[in-house]
Amino acid sequence: MPTVINVGVIGAAGRMGQAVCHAVAADPDLDLVAAVDRSRAGDELDSVVGLDGSELVVAEDVAELTAAGTDVVVDFTVVEAARVNLAAVAAGGIHAVVGTTGFTDDDLEMLRSSFDSSNCLVAPNFAVGAVLMMRFAEMAAPLFETAEVIELHHDGKIDAPSGTAMRTVERMAAASSDWADDPTDNEMVAGARGGMGPGGIRVHSVRLRGLVAHQEVLFGTTGQTLTIRHDSTDRTSFMPGVLAAVKRIEDLPGLTIGLESVLGI
Ligand code: NAD
Repeated sequence: MPTVINVGVIGAAGRMGQAVCHAVAADPDLDLVAAVDRSRAGDELDSVVGLDGSELVVAEDVAELTAAGTDVVVDFTVVEAARVNLAAVAAGGIHAVVGTTGFTDDDLEMLRSSFDSSNCLVAPNFAVGAVLMMRFAEMAAPLFETAEVIELHHDGKIDAPSGTAMRTVERMAAASSDWADDPTDNEMVAGARGGMGPGGIRVHSVRLRGLVAHQEVLFGTTGQTLTIRHDSTDRTSFMPGVLAAVKRIEDLPGLTIGLESVLGI
Protein backbone atom coordinates (compact mmCIF):
# COMPACT_ATOMS: atom_id res chain seq x y z
CA MET A 1 0.00 0.00 0.00
CA PRO A 2 1.36 3.49 -0.78
CA THR A 3 2.28 5.91 2.06
CA VAL A 4 -0.89 7.88 1.43
CA ILE A 5 -3.88 5.64 0.69
CA ASN A 6 -6.30 6.75 -2.04
CA VAL A 7 -9.86 6.28 -0.76
CA GLY A 8 -13.12 6.27 -2.71
CA VAL A 9 -16.53 6.43 -1.00
CA ILE A 10 -19.68 4.80 -2.40
CA GLY A 11 -22.85 6.29 -0.92
CA ALA A 12 -20.98 9.55 -0.30
CA ALA A 13 -24.18 11.60 -0.05
CA GLY A 14 -25.76 9.35 2.58
CA ARG A 15 -25.70 9.82 6.35
CA MET A 16 -22.76 7.45 6.84
CA GLY A 17 -21.05 8.33 3.54
CA GLN A 18 -20.89 12.01 4.48
CA ALA A 19 -19.31 11.17 7.84
CA VAL A 20 -16.77 8.93 6.04
CA CYS A 21 -15.87 11.72 3.57
CA HIS A 22 -15.16 14.09 6.48
CA ALA A 23 -13.15 11.48 8.41
CA VAL A 24 -11.04 10.54 5.36
CA ALA A 25 -10.43 14.19 4.42
CA ALA A 26 -9.23 14.93 7.97
CA ASP A 27 -6.74 12.02 8.06
CA PRO A 28 -3.24 12.93 6.81
CA ASP A 29 -2.57 9.30 5.82
CA LEU A 30 -5.59 9.16 3.49
CA ASP A 31 -6.57 11.00 0.33
CA LEU A 32 -10.23 11.23 -0.74
CA VAL A 33 -9.99 10.68 -4.50
CA ALA A 34 -13.53 9.63 -5.53
CA ALA A 35 -17.11 9.97 -4.31
CA VAL A 36 -19.93 7.93 -5.85
CA ASP A 37 -23.64 8.37 -5.17
CA ARG A 38 -26.52 7.88 -7.59
CA SER A 39 -28.77 10.43 -5.86
CA ARG A 40 -26.33 13.36 -6.19
CA ALA A 41 -24.34 12.45 -9.33
CA GLY A 42 -22.86 15.52 -11.04
CA ASP A 43 -23.00 17.73 -7.92
CA GLU A 44 -19.83 19.13 -6.38
CA LEU A 45 -18.90 17.14 -3.26
CA ASP A 46 -18.45 20.46 -1.42
CA SER A 47 -22.12 21.28 -1.78
CA VAL A 48 -23.27 17.74 -0.92
CA VAL A 49 -21.10 17.06 2.12
CA GLY A 50 -20.00 20.55 3.18
CA LEU A 51 -16.38 19.62 2.71
CA ASP A 52 -14.52 22.87 2.12
CA GLY A 53 -11.65 22.64 -0.33
CA SER A 54 -12.65 19.43 -2.12
CA GLU A 55 -12.69 19.67 -5.88
CA LEU A 56 -14.41 16.33 -6.40
CA VAL A 57 -17.65 15.92 -8.31
CA VAL A 58 -19.96 13.12 -7.17
CA ALA A 59 -19.85 10.32 -9.76
CA GLU A 60 -22.76 8.11 -10.79
CA ASP A 61 -20.80 5.00 -11.58
CA VAL A 62 -18.19 2.95 -9.73
CA ALA A 63 -16.02 3.02 -12.89
CA GLU A 64 -14.86 6.38 -11.51
CA LEU A 65 -13.07 4.55 -8.68
CA THR A 66 -10.58 2.93 -11.05
CA ALA A 67 -10.15 6.13 -13.08
CA ALA A 68 -9.30 8.02 -9.87
CA GLY A 69 -6.64 5.47 -8.79
CA THR A 70 -8.57 4.26 -5.72
CA ASP A 71 -6.68 1.86 -3.42
CA VAL A 72 -9.53 1.26 -0.95
CA VAL A 73 -13.24 1.85 -1.35
CA VAL A 74 -15.61 2.41 1.57
CA ASP A 75 -19.23 1.37 0.93
CA PHE A 76 -22.24 2.52 2.99
CA THR A 77 -25.25 2.15 0.68
CA VAL A 78 -28.07 -0.40 0.44
CA VAL A 79 -27.56 -4.11 -0.04
CA GLU A 80 -29.09 -4.22 -3.54
CA ALA A 81 -26.59 -1.56 -4.72
CA ALA A 82 -23.67 -3.07 -2.82
CA ARG A 83 -24.13 -6.49 -4.47
CA VAL A 84 -23.61 -4.92 -7.90
CA ASN A 85 -21.02 -2.30 -6.98
CA LEU A 86 -18.80 -4.63 -4.95
CA ALA A 87 -18.63 -7.09 -7.84
CA ALA A 88 -17.18 -4.27 -9.96
CA VAL A 89 -14.83 -3.20 -7.15
CA ALA A 90 -13.52 -6.79 -6.85
CA ALA A 91 -13.10 -7.07 -10.64
CA GLY A 92 -11.06 -3.86 -10.53
CA GLY A 93 -8.70 -5.29 -7.88
CA ILE A 94 -9.63 -2.56 -5.37
CA HIS A 95 -9.83 -3.32 -1.62
CA ALA A 96 -13.25 -2.78 0.00
CA VAL A 97 -14.35 -1.79 3.51
CA VAL A 98 -18.10 -2.38 3.71
CA GLY A 99 -20.53 -1.09 6.32
CA THR A 100 -23.72 -1.74 4.37
CA THR A 101 -25.98 -4.15 6.25
CA GLY A 102 -28.47 -6.78 5.09
CA PHE A 103 -26.16 -9.26 3.32
CA THR A 104 -27.35 -12.89 3.22
CA ASP A 105 -25.02 -15.85 3.68
CA ASP A 106 -25.15 -16.32 -0.13
CA ASP A 107 -24.04 -12.69 -0.60
CA LEU A 108 -21.09 -13.26 1.70
CA GLU A 109 -20.11 -16.41 -0.21
CA MET A 110 -20.27 -14.39 -3.43
CA LEU A 111 -17.97 -11.75 -1.92
CA ARG A 112 -15.60 -14.48 -0.70
CA SER A 113 -15.24 -15.87 -4.20
CA SER A 114 -15.13 -12.55 -6.08
CA PHE A 115 -12.44 -10.87 -3.95
CA ASP A 116 -9.54 -12.98 -5.22
CA SER A 117 -7.09 -10.26 -6.20
CA SER A 118 -8.00 -7.70 -3.52
CA ASN A 119 -9.45 -7.87 0.00
CA CYS A 120 -12.85 -7.12 1.49
CA LEU A 121 -13.93 -6.47 5.08
CA VAL A 122 -17.63 -6.44 5.97
CA ALA A 123 -18.55 -5.25 9.46
CA PRO A 124 -22.10 -4.83 10.74
CA ASN A 125 -20.82 -2.27 13.23
CA PHE A 126 -17.63 -0.19 13.21
CA ALA A 127 -18.06 1.21 16.75
CA VAL A 128 -15.57 -0.33 19.16
CA GLY A 129 -18.16 -0.40 21.96
CA ALA A 130 -20.53 -2.43 19.78
CA VAL A 131 -17.77 -4.89 18.90
CA LEU A 132 -17.15 -5.37 22.64
CA MET A 133 -20.89 -5.71 23.30
CA MET A 134 -21.03 -8.62 20.84
CA ARG A 135 -18.02 -10.27 22.48
CA PHE A 136 -19.46 -9.83 26.02
CA ALA A 137 -22.82 -11.25 24.86
CA GLU A 138 -21.03 -14.29 23.43
CA MET A 139 -19.22 -14.77 26.78
CA ALA A 140 -22.45 -14.49 28.80
CA ALA A 141 -24.51 -16.79 26.56
CA PRO A 142 -23.50 -20.18 28.08
CA LEU A 143 -24.21 -18.89 31.62
CA PHE A 144 -27.87 -17.87 31.13
CA GLU A 145 -30.94 -19.83 29.91
CA THR A 146 -32.96 -16.89 28.55
CA ALA A 147 -31.89 -13.95 26.40
CA GLU A 148 -33.50 -11.38 24.11
CA VAL A 149 -32.02 -8.58 21.97
CA ILE A 150 -33.58 -5.16 21.53
CA GLU A 151 -32.05 -3.00 18.82
CA LEU A 152 -33.08 0.65 18.47
CA HIS A 153 -32.35 2.84 15.43
CA HIS A 154 -33.30 6.13 13.73
CA ASP A 155 -36.48 6.14 11.65
CA GLY A 156 -34.59 6.23 8.32
CA LYS A 157 -33.27 2.67 8.67
CA ILE A 158 -34.88 0.39 6.09
CA ASP A 159 -33.67 -3.08 7.15
CA ALA A 160 -34.72 -4.97 10.29
CA PRO A 161 -33.38 -6.39 12.41
CA SER A 162 -30.06 -4.55 12.27
CA GLY A 163 -26.93 -6.32 11.04
CA THR A 164 -25.47 -5.88 14.53
CA ALA A 165 -28.46 -7.62 16.15
CA MET A 166 -28.24 -10.51 13.70
CA ARG A 167 -24.51 -10.92 14.24
CA THR A 168 -24.96 -10.73 18.04
CA VAL A 169 -27.62 -13.44 18.02
CA GLU A 170 -25.63 -15.65 15.66
CA ARG A 171 -22.66 -15.48 18.02
CA MET A 172 -24.81 -16.11 21.11
CA ALA A 173 -26.43 -19.12 19.40
CA ALA A 174 -23.01 -20.47 18.42
CA ALA A 175 -21.80 -20.08 22.03
CA SER A 176 -24.79 -21.91 23.57
CA SER A 177 -27.60 -24.17 22.40
CA ASP A 178 -29.07 -24.47 25.88
CA TRP A 179 -31.92 -21.91 25.73
CA ALA A 180 -35.23 -22.29 27.62
CA ASP A 181 -38.44 -22.72 25.61
CA ASP A 182 -40.59 -19.62 24.98
CA PRO A 183 -43.76 -20.04 27.14
CA THR A 184 -45.93 -17.76 24.94
CA ASP A 185 -48.97 -19.57 23.52
CA ASN A 186 -51.28 -16.61 22.94
CA GLU A 187 -49.81 -13.64 21.09
CA MET A 188 -52.60 -11.04 21.21
CA VAL A 189 -50.79 -8.72 18.76
CA ALA A 190 -48.86 -10.43 15.94
CA GLY A 191 -45.14 -9.82 16.40
CA ALA A 192 -45.43 -8.81 20.07
CA ARG A 193 -42.70 -11.31 20.93
CA GLY A 194 -40.43 -9.96 18.18
CA GLY A 195 -38.72 -12.04 15.52
CA MET A 196 -37.01 -15.36 16.16
CA GLY A 197 -33.31 -15.38 15.32
CA PRO A 198 -30.75 -18.21 15.38
CA GLY A 199 -31.08 -20.46 18.44
CA GLY A 200 -34.68 -19.27 18.88
CA ILE A 201 -33.39 -16.04 20.46
CA ARG A 202 -35.95 -13.22 20.14
CA VAL A 203 -34.97 -9.95 18.45
CA HIS A 204 -37.00 -6.73 18.72
CA SER A 205 -36.48 -3.73 16.40
CA VAL A 206 -37.43 -0.20 17.47
CA ARG A 207 -37.41 2.69 14.95
CA LEU A 208 -37.58 6.18 16.44
CA ARG A 209 -36.79 9.67 15.20
CA GLY A 210 -33.91 11.11 17.23
CA LEU A 211 -32.06 7.82 17.77
CA VAL A 212 -28.80 6.86 16.01
CA ALA A 213 -27.85 3.19 16.74
CA HIS A 214 -28.43 1.43 20.06
CA GLN A 215 -28.72 -2.14 21.32
CA GLU A 216 -29.51 -3.96 24.54
CA VAL A 217 -28.75 -7.64 25.09
CA LEU A 218 -30.78 -8.94 28.03
CA PHE A 219 -29.88 -12.16 29.83
CA GLY A 220 -31.85 -13.85 32.60
CA THR A 221 -31.32 -16.78 34.94
CA THR A 222 -32.73 -17.64 38.37
CA GLY A 223 -32.84 -14.54 40.55
CA GLN A 224 -30.75 -12.28 38.33
CA THR A 225 -30.56 -10.51 35.00
CA LEU A 226 -27.69 -8.98 33.06
CA THR A 227 -28.12 -6.14 30.55
CA ILE A 228 -25.36 -5.24 28.10
CA ARG A 229 -26.11 -1.96 26.34
CA HIS A 230 -24.29 0.03 23.69
CA ASP A 231 -25.22 3.46 22.32
CA SER A 232 -23.85 5.21 19.27
CA THR A 233 -25.07 8.76 19.90
CA ASP A 234 -23.31 10.18 16.84
CA ARG A 235 -22.10 8.75 13.51
CA THR A 236 -18.56 9.83 14.39
CA SER A 237 -18.56 6.75 16.70
CA PHE A 238 -18.10 4.54 13.62
CA MET A 239 -15.24 6.51 12.05
CA PRO A 240 -12.17 5.31 14.03
CA GLY A 241 -13.16 1.73 13.14
CA VAL A 242 -13.69 2.59 9.46
CA LEU A 243 -10.33 4.39 9.21
CA ALA A 244 -8.51 1.56 11.02
CA ALA A 245 -10.05 -0.96 8.58
CA VAL A 246 -9.00 1.17 5.58
CA LYS A 247 -5.41 1.19 6.86
CA ARG A 248 -5.33 -2.56 7.68
CA ILE A 249 -7.31 -4.05 4.79
CA GLU A 250 -4.24 -4.82 2.69
CA ASP A 251 -3.04 -7.24 5.41
CA LEU A 252 -6.37 -9.13 5.66
CA PRO A 253 -6.52 -11.55 2.71
CA GLY A 254 -9.85 -12.46 1.11
CA LEU A 255 -13.06 -11.79 2.99
CA THR A 256 -13.04 -10.70 6.65
CA ILE A 257 -16.26 -10.46 8.66
CA GLY A 258 -16.30 -8.06 11.61
CA LEU A 259 -13.83 -5.58 13.03
CA GLU A 260 -12.28 -7.92 15.59
CA SER A 261 -9.15 -8.74 13.58
CA VAL A 262 -8.54 -5.03 12.91
CA LEU A 263 -8.83 -4.20 16.62
CA GLY A 264 -6.79 -7.27 17.62
CA ILE A 265 -9.49 -8.64 19.97
P1 NAD B 1 -28.49 6.58 3.67
O1 NAD B 1 -29.81 6.21 3.06
O2 NAD B 1 -28.38 7.88 4.38
O3 NAD B 1 -27.34 6.54 2.54
C1 NAD B 1 -27.24 5.57 1.54
C2 NAD B 1 -26.67 6.24 0.30
O4 NAD B 1 -26.41 5.25 -0.69
C3 NAD B 1 -27.65 7.26 -0.32
O5 NAD B 1 -27.03 8.53 -0.45
C4 NAD B 1 -27.98 6.65 -1.68
O6 NAD B 1 -28.19 7.62 -2.70
C5 NAD B 1 -26.71 5.83 -1.95
N1 NAD B 1 -26.93 4.79 -2.95
C6 NAD B 1 -27.97 3.94 -3.07
N2 NAD B 1 -27.84 3.17 -4.14
C7 NAD B 1 -26.67 3.50 -4.74
C8 NAD B 1 -25.96 3.05 -5.88
N3 NAD B 1 -26.44 2.06 -6.67
N4 NAD B 1 -24.78 3.64 -6.18
C9 NAD B 1 -24.30 4.64 -5.42
N5 NAD B 1 -24.91 5.11 -4.31
C10 NAD B 1 -26.09 4.55 -3.97
O7 NAD B 1 -28.11 5.37 4.65
P2 NAD B 1 -27.05 5.39 5.86
O8 NAD B 1 -27.75 5.72 7.14
O9 NAD B 1 -25.85 6.16 5.46
O10 NAD B 1 -26.70 3.83 5.95
C11 NAD B 1 -26.10 3.18 4.84
C12 NAD B 1 -25.85 1.71 5.21
O11 NAD B 1 -24.90 1.63 6.28
C13 NAD B 1 -27.09 0.96 5.70
O12 NAD B 1 -27.05 -0.36 5.20
C14 NAD B 1 -26.92 0.96 7.22
O13 NAD B 1 -27.58 -0.11 7.83
C15 NAD B 1 -25.42 0.82 7.31
N6 NAD B 1 -24.79 1.25 8.57
C16 NAD B 1 -23.74 0.52 8.99
C17 NAD B 1 -23.02 0.91 10.10
C18 NAD B 1 -21.82 0.09 10.50
O14 NAD B 1 -21.13 0.46 11.49
N7 NAD B 1 -21.50 -0.97 9.76
C19 NAD B 1 -23.40 2.04 10.83
C20 NAD B 1 -24.49 2.77 10.37
C21 NAD B 1 -25.16 2.39 9.24
